[in-house]
Amino acid sequence: DTNRTQELITLTERSTAHNYHPLPVVVAEADGAWVTDVEGRRYLDCLAAYSAVNFGHRHPEIVDAVRAQLDRVTLTSRAFHHDTLGPFARELADLAGKDLVLPMNTGAEAVETAIKVARKWGYEVKGVPEDRATIVVADGNFHGRTISIVSFSTDPVARTHFGPFTPGFKVAPYGDAPSVADAIDETTVAVLIEPIQGEAGVIVPPEGYLSQVRQLCDARELLFIADEIQSGLGRTGATFACDHEDVVPDLYLLGKALGGGVVPVSAVVGNEDVLGVIHPGEHGSTFGGNPLACAAGRAVVGMLGTGEWQRRAAELGSHLMDGLQPLVGHGLHAVRGRGLWAGIDIDPDLMSGRQACEALLAEGVLVKDTHGSTIRLAPPLVVEAEEIDLAVDALSRVLAAG
Ligand code: PLP
Repeated sequence: DTNRTQELITLTERSTAHNYHPLPVVVAEADGAWVTDVEGRRYLDCLAAYSAVNFGHRHPEIVDAVRAQLDRVTLTSRAFHHDTLGPFARELADLAGKDLVLPMNTGAEAVETAIKVARKWGYEVKGVPEDRATIVVADGNFHGRTISIVSFSTDPVARTHFGPFTPGFKVAPYGDAPSVADAIDETTVAVLIEPIQGEAGVIVPPEGYLSQVRQLCDARELLFIADEIQSGLGRTGATFACDHEDVVPDLYLLGKALGGGVVPVSAVVGNEDVLGVIHPGEHGSTFGGNPLACAAGRAVVGMLGTGEWQRRAAELGSHLMDGLQPLVGHGLHAVRGRGLWAGIDIDPDLMSGRQACEALLAEGVLVKDTHGSTIRLAPPLVVEAEEIDLAVDALSRVLAAG
């Protein structure tokens, strides 16, 4: 039924706010690296829900864990204990080499949580004068959509007509440690950065940036907050993108893949001396740390414990890069990335990012543009090398036809 797609898109457009502009495909089923639309067409998923589906759609280990939890208890709120939160928190904290976990649901909530923790730590531990705390962030950042978070976005589309904004943030160019140093003063409590900027187009900072920021934070007594919501949990070929520079932040912000592609799960992970500033009643969420979330999260943490997924991301990532590199100068201006995560810049004279995505859709490959000409490639880590070849071949056909 070829009208089904259009009918469902029309219904959705008529019934939802237009805060997204999805590609014209309506997914009905998904398995591993593949999705099937309502008309039975199959597509290779090269976005993986912005890395929330790192382990593939409906990975059996995750689905089984969630299903078993679904048959026992799904929600208690944090008014009571339940028997999955303790094990999940311990296992996640151990994976990160930290003491404690503060569980939330979405990425933006984890970022908001870290801002609150950093401010409170600044006043109570560092001794910054009350209501003066500032946090240094990076130009081109993406940390979510709440008022406080868009307050320090540098993207006009994210900010325009959403003021008044939350004060207390300073922006430094991404990848430039001396500018971070310049932005620091006696009110600074933390530096908050993405170790690789995802939404900005998979921007990998110059070698040494993360370790220089770490040194600055040590020297000036600041918290280093790494937003690993998109970069963390295997995607870059390591558990955390910070691992590539052997940098350990004070707080890891995790989300997306932590829920195994099944439920929203986020967390702030850090040590007692930092997360210990939060006391009962000062922060929380009805759904944060719920049993289903913890069951999904435990399965994810367990899978990452072997190192196998990280290795796979590294190997498949270099295979992907080998495929993409020859297209530079043949429709692509640039290719960047780390692990199984690539940002490609389409020659804007050839076509827009959106047009490239629509052409790839017709070829059976799902990707999404960001910032005009850039496309992010992030297939689930279950993808096979031959399937990556299929996506690269489709891309080269699209570019050649453009
Ligand atoms: N931080 C980073 C680095 C992200 O990439 C995202 C989402 O794209 C977020 C935070 C926000 O996560 P959420 O959409 O779950 O609020």
